[in-house]
Amino acid sequence: MGLKFIALVFVVVFAYFNGLNYAEKAPKFSFIQEATSAPEVSFYDYIIIGGGTAGCPLAATLSTGESNVLVLERGGSPYTNTTKVRMKNFISTLTDNSPDSFSQAFVSEDGVPNNRARVLGGGTVINVGFYGRAEPSFLKQAGVDEAVAKDSYAWVEKKLVHKPVAFEWQSAVRSGLLEVGVLPDNGFTYAHINGTKTSGTIFDRNGNRHTAADLLQYANPNRIKVYLHAVVHKITFRTKDGCRPKAEGVIFYDANGRKHTAYLKNESNSRASEIVLSAGAIGSPQLLMLSGIGPAARLRSLGIKVVLDQPMVGRDMADNPLYGLIISYPNSIPLSLATVAGIVDKIYIETVNGYDFSSLSLGSGAPANSTTNLGFILGKFKGPTSEGYLELKSTNVSDNPNVRFNYYHAADDLRNCVRGMKTVIDVVNSESLSRYRFRNTTTRDLLKMMVDLPVNLRPRHANATTSLEQYCIDTVMTFWHYHGGCRIGKVVDRDYKVIGVDSLRVIDASTFAFSPGTNPQASIMMLGRSIGLRILRSRRRWSN
Ligand code: FAD
Repeated sequence: MGLKFIALVFVVVFAYFNGLNYAEKAPKFSFIQEATSAPEVSFYDYIIIGGGTAGCPLAATLSTGESNVLVLERGGSPYTNTTKVRMKNFISTLTDNSPDSFSQAFVSEDGVPNNRARVLGGGTVINVGFYGRAEPSFLKQAGVDEAVAKDSYAWVEKKLVHKPVAFEWQSAVRSGLLEVGVLPDNGFTYAHINGTKTSGTIFDRNGNRHTAADLLQYANPNRIKVYLHAVVHKITFRTKDGCRPKAEGVIFYDANGRKHTAYLKNESNSRASEIVLSAGAIGSPQLLMLSGIGPAARLRSLGIKVVLDQPMVGRDMADNPLYGLIISYPNSIPLSLATVAGIVDKIYIETVNGYDFSSLSLGSGAPANSTTNLGFILGKFKGPTSEGYLELKSTNVSDNPNVRFNYYHAADDLRNCVRGMKTVIDVVNSESLSRYRFRNTTTRDLLKMMVDLPVNLRPRHANATTSLEQYCIDTVMTFWHYHGGCRIGKVVDRDYKVIGVDSLRVIDASTFAFSPGTNPQASIMMLGRSIGLRILRSRRRWSN
């Protein structure tokens, strides 16, 4: 009895400290402050714009050298209201569009609703949490050495990645994938390999989200400053006749609308000091343009002084389309976010359940219900091949720019969607999922249910339930893996330096030609760490 009682007390205390009270456990960083406390003028060796998925690991790494690092993040802290980042609140946090929420909604010119992160930790604070590494071809494209990448992934995983709990719905879909031939069974692995696997998640077993902001635990607190609600309006350049423009500072505004300027330190080896744009695939091309780097005619038409005519800024924007089916099941089961993936070459299948997916629909405006009896089996494919563009709509940095992704313009993408949909349908009809299906619901009914949902602003066609091509086009949603706009070889070189100017890099998803792995967050954090290490090495060479 005595022993049992002690064990029970231990379990309760452990659960309390390990999960329920994450708010009290959340790291306290003395170097994270509101931008209202920033001086009017300051000087740093590195200024990072955007404390997101790439920005946090990059800043933490750079601060471990001899340099002083400034991070300017337009959003607030994920640590102030930790209920918002619990797994069960995924959809309500994502669909909260109040002015200081973590998510800024936008609708692309394709008529597809989408979201941008606006919080320290960036996309890792609002995403689905699935964590998996990239295929080797990504490392080649990103110019990252395999051994450095491996160490950098491990550096990230140590702080925020967890082996997921075996949720009933995830296990059922996992069995369904194996049953329909998505083989082999790869068990639990972060690796991107053909077959069915359980991957990592950034949610711990108590449903608390861990984010890229947690990587700031690696930072040297004496060498880093992070300002919140610090909205960067532009990068300023030193331009002398005949010389390349050189980035010298950034102008940002705090929550009270007060202007601040941060400059790069003007040291003898000032070429080692740099500004790094890590504002994401929408924010980075947008800020380059607002700072005068972009297509000259368009910039001039908005009254922006041209620093460098660079027509490739904002080109090659791409977003992986999401396709899938929603199933209504009879009995209530615990909700889950994606932890299982089926990979068949370029086709990736994942699943989530229990959420009120209708609140993702356009114009729903309704607060998300806590739980539903709905499962969503969804797919993505590598790439995509279709590409679009980003253009400034105004000179206000808080306005979303115009973005068009041109979903399914490439025939290849449509073929991949149809292949993926066939696998989704096979899984839905598998024996493993039979107890989660109402017997009289046909596949056609499920297709029709999706076609009828206002998931986008695109027209619906009569043949959308009979032609999978039309179904893909009419029901397209975002997988939120948009990328491009500052591509390697076009806007930045293989060291992520902006071509044509000095002291400026871009490090985030805007540099990608395709979205890595089944899901990109692992590789974006890995990139922040890897390129941070590379910058530290080259700085050491400069100062020797
Ligand atoms: P971000 O993480 O968005 O960072 C950019 C940062 O810059 C933001 O914090 C932003 O506030 C800040 N910023 C922008 N402009 C300014 C400015 N002017 N001044 C100051 N700061 C600025 N990936 C996965 O791997 N697994 C998933 O399960 C998954 N699910 C997803 C679900 C959703 C709903 C979303 C939105 C994304 C999902 N992703 C997932 C994708 C992944 O989260 C993103 O690709 C990734 O976070 C992008 O990283 P980034 O560094 O390029 O940009």
